[in-house]
This record gives sequence, C-alpha cells and structure tokens, in this order.
Amino acid sequence: MDVLDWPRLRSVLEPWRALVNQGRIPAAFLWVGSEGTGKTVSAWAITQALLCPHGDKIMPCRQCADCIALSRLSHVDLWLFPPTGGERNLEETVSRFREALRENPFLSLADWELLLLGGRGSLSIGVEGVRRLQEALSLKKAEGGWRVVWFWHAEMLTRQAANALLKLVEEPPPHVLFFFLATRAEALPATLRSRCQVWRFPPLSAEELRKLAGVELSQAQLSMAQGSFSRLKRLLEPTQAPYIQALREWLRAILTPHSQVDIASVIESLVHAPRLSELILMGVGLIREHPQLSFPQKTIGIDTLLALADAIEAHLHPHALLWEATLYLQRQWHSPRPQLGMLFG
Ligand SMILES: [Zn+2]
Repeated sequence: MDVLDWPRLRSVLEPWRALVNQGRIPAAFLWVGSEGTGKTVSAWAITQALLCPHGDKIMPCRQCADCIALSRLSHVDLWLFPPTGGERNLEETVSRFREALRENPFLSLADWELLLLGGRGSLSIGVEGVRRLQEALSLKKAEGGWRVVWFWHAEMLTRQAANALLKLVEEPPPHVLFFFLATRAEALPATLRSRCQVWRFPPLSAEELRKLAGVELSQAQLSMAQGSFSRLKRLLEPTQAPYIQALREWLRAILTPHSQVDIASVIESLVHAPRLSELILMGVGLIREHPQLSFPQKTIGIDTLLALADAIEAHLHPHALLWEATLYLQRQWHSPRPQLGMLFG
C-alpha cells in the first residue's frame, strides 16, 4: 500500500495544511490511538510531505530522490526509534524496523516483538538512542532543511529516555519535528506531553476497514477488529481461521446452556492458538456487539476477557485460565442478576 493512498489521510492532511499555511508547524506531535488506527501511515505521509524539496509541505512530488528514499523509510533526515531489546544494537533494530514497516505499514507491536526477539525478551526505547540523537541534532544542517524523528510506540520510552528527551523537545533545534506515536498518552511524563501538540486517532469505521482490506467483511469480523486494521489483518490470515472458529464456539457454548458444543475440546483448540491473548481480545468485540447480552452481562464478559488476556500474557497456565473464565462466565451470565458489584465494589 502506498501510504499516500490511505483512506483517512484527508482528515490528517486538513489540520496539517492549516499549520503549514499559518507557519505554525509544532516542534512535537503526540499522536494517540489504538493500534491499527493509522498513526504510523499518517506520520509517514506527513514526513514525506515535509522532506520533499519539490512539494509544498502538504503533498510531496512522489518522484524525487528524497521521496523515493522516504518511501523506503531510509532518508538521512529521518530518525526512527522503535522499541528494542535483547541486546540488539540500534542499527540492526532500525534496519529491521524499516523492512517490517515497508512490508506492513500496520505492523502491530506484538508482530514487531515476534520479529525482533522471537517472542523472548521485552521491548523498550532506551536512553542510548536519545543521546545519539542529541548529538546528531546539535550539528547544524548546512542546507537548513527539515529533520524528522519518530518514536514508535512512545509509551515504551524508559523514564530515563523520556527525561533526556524533555530538554530536546523544550528547546528544539530549528526545523526539527518529533512524532511521538503512542497507544496510551498517560505512559509519557506530563512534562513531555505538555510540550506536544496532541492529536487523537479514533477507531476506523467499517467503511474504512473495508476499503483497506479490499474485501467484503462480515459483521462478526468487523466486531472482532474493533476499528483496528492491524487486528483485522491478523484475523483475515488463513492460518487464524480455526482459532477464530474455536473462539466463537467457545463464547457460544458459554452463552447457550445445554449446548451441544464440547467445551473441553474447544478449549483444547484454543490453547494452541499462536498469540492467544490477542485472540481473546478479539472476543471482546464479539461480546460488545452481541444482540442477546444485556449491558451488565456485556460488562462482566468484557472485563473477564480483558483479565484473561492479561493473565495469559503474564505466561500463566492458559488451560487452567480458560477453564476458570468459562466457569465464571457460565455462572455470571446465567445467574438471574449478574453481579455488577463484583466489578465496581
Ligand atoms: Zn519529492
């Protein structure tokens, strides 16, 4: 996909155009939204617009050497800081990140972790890269052009890295634009947040998801995607089909007393799902839009699934956890009065 063709670009370009025309390009953007809502592709498009020497900072020419380098994310004036870990050095991390984003501009953090660390180790954006950035930015650019810096999943900045950045963002060198792309703004220190222009990225609409996917989507698929194209891509992968099927059967079996579904064998299929916690999160969308569940039942269901996904993520025993969630939901959904007090008490 060419990032300049993505459906929501217009809603980003309009406010951007206003800033450019008023000569008020900020030193830093903090873009906040769930994964798969287009923060990265939007940053990519604006970076291209800003760094193309032949455009008007709103639309790039798409043909010059700079545009071609930017379409590959390998421009000298673009610094990328993805989360890293497991002793990977910065160069290696960034070059794999470029490759991964070129392949899939809607790369999810889980995909990135799997790609970089094979699912072992934990990710963060450390202070080492920030120090190198400070040095590089302190050198003046001869031609006076723009320089752009991305912090991808900025919520993973270590405290030390965020503090080091604060100074840079408070007194930015001229013609530098920072992008902090984050799923949770609160994870960044308030002092840093207050220096940024904050834009929110809401979930994608059904129409936008259809356009991006290029195929018709069922209501269940739209519910499970919950406005995230990253999630939709994952659930459309053919290898996911049996697990999605198992997830739906599991929820149906819990919801329908005396159903013919053999819960034990459904759970047996579920535990083999790669990235089970993400699959469970797709179930949240199914519960949220289920026509037969009341509001308290939905609340209990969603809360249970979120807790289940967290516990699985913490590497607890998925088999036992799935059984526990099954029995709990059976009790709660079929009791005459679901106990909201358990959640809010
Ligand atoms: Zn160009």
